[in-house]
Amino acid sequence: MKQRLSILGSTGSIGVQTLDIVAENPELFEVTSLVAGRNWELLARQAIEFDVDSVVIGDESKYEALKEALAQYPIKVYAGSDSICQVVRSSEVDVVVNALVGYAGLHPTIAAIEAGKKLALANKESLVVGGDLVMRLAQEKGVPILPIDSEHSAIFQCLAGEKSPVRRLIVTCSGGALRDVPMSELGDVTPERALKHPQWSMGAKITIDSATLVNKGFEVIEAHWLFGMPAEKISVLIHPQSIVHSMVEFEDGAIKAQLGTPDMHMPISYALMFPYRATRPQERFDFLKNPTLSFAEPDRVKYPALDIAYDCMRRGGNSACVMNGSNEVAVAAFLAGKCRFTDITASIEYALEKSTFVEKPTLRDYELSNDESRALAAEYLKLK
Ligand code: NDP
Repeated sequence: MKQRLSILGSTGSIGVQTLDIVAENPELFEVTSLVAGRNWELLARQAIEFDVDSVVIGDESKYEALKEALAQYPIKVYAGSDSICQVVRSSEVDVVVNALVGYAGLHPTIAAIEAGKKLALANKESLVVGGDLVMRLAQEKGVPILPIDSEHSAIFQCLAGEKSPVRRLIVTCSGGALRDVPMSELGDVTPERALKHPQWSMGAKITIDSATLVNKGFEVIEAHWLFGMPAEKISVLIHPQSIVHSMVEFEDGAIKAQLGTPDMHMPISYALMFPYRATRPQERFDFLKNPTLSFAEPDRVKYPALDIAYDCMRRGGNSACVMNGSNEVAVAAFLAGKCRFTDITASIEYALEKSTFVEKPTLRDYELSNDESRALAAEYLKLK
């Protein structure tokens, strides 16, 4: 029987590549619902092409335009964040692909798990903000969470079939767009420069998060929740070629790595088809054309965000939620030309210092903490 998908964030980088996998495998998948934020034109085209039952546009001001574009088709059209959770819970959905960006992904993640849906998760912010709630709920409901993030997919693949204890997870890191820019010049970096990732073509927010290494910090937190590993057993290694997607070291000294060209279709298809693999028309990786795989320590002075994330993980409570909320505001401000690149990490530090610490947050506490951290970052950056 075909798996029926709800794809959240279908107009984004991961969403579009997820639809490529669906189009390549029409005998395995069909799409029940698609969700986007503002891009109603692309959403309408995707809805028609994949013959979906319903679509949701997050931005309610785009509802009329979307409704009109789909007027000739028997497709239900909804708007707003409550509708996203509603389509996720539908009995016509087997698998939810959460490829939303940012805090907006948390509620749909929880809705999917509560409704007992298999979750293919790209939205790392769900776990960064509320990993304790999300993982507890997934365990209670017996819902599998299949990682789409390439590093976590790599670790998941290395762990497949293993029953022995793990000594260490090694998360690899390209170093981001600014890895060759000296620290003294980071303050003057433009958004255009920071958006030029050397290996991966991704959405704007994660590309900036990669340049600050906030993304790598978030991935360490994500690995902590997904694989139940403490901070001291997760290390980060710079690997500029982005061929080794991450590694697992076992107690006998063996290290397993997952390798491949940097292409998100692979982890997306693995999350959708696990425990099977896709047959893809892609060029084979050639070791002889890529003879050098190099590794280095991350520069923790140039990139303080990595240690901030480790501190948040050790401190627990709502700390990582504060890091995430303040980062979202600062990244948006940087992209809009309203602050400097180095202000992003400074805003996070300010928000963490001033925010209210909650040791055992509920979902409501996370909402309040997200609001507070966003306001603190705006205060630091003097945004109106
Ligand atoms: P994009 O910015 O490319 O896409 C985000 C998607 O979410 C878009 O479809 C956007 O809609 C939608 N969206 C944003 N806000 C809302 C909202 N409030 N309501 C409804 N829809 C919304 O992001 P990416 O695809 O790059 O990343 C998605 C997630 O996957 C992130 O958490 C990222 O960290 C993670 N990830 C991404 C990777 C990549 O290669 N891109 C790799 C590993 C992880 P619209 O465009 O219509 O406004």
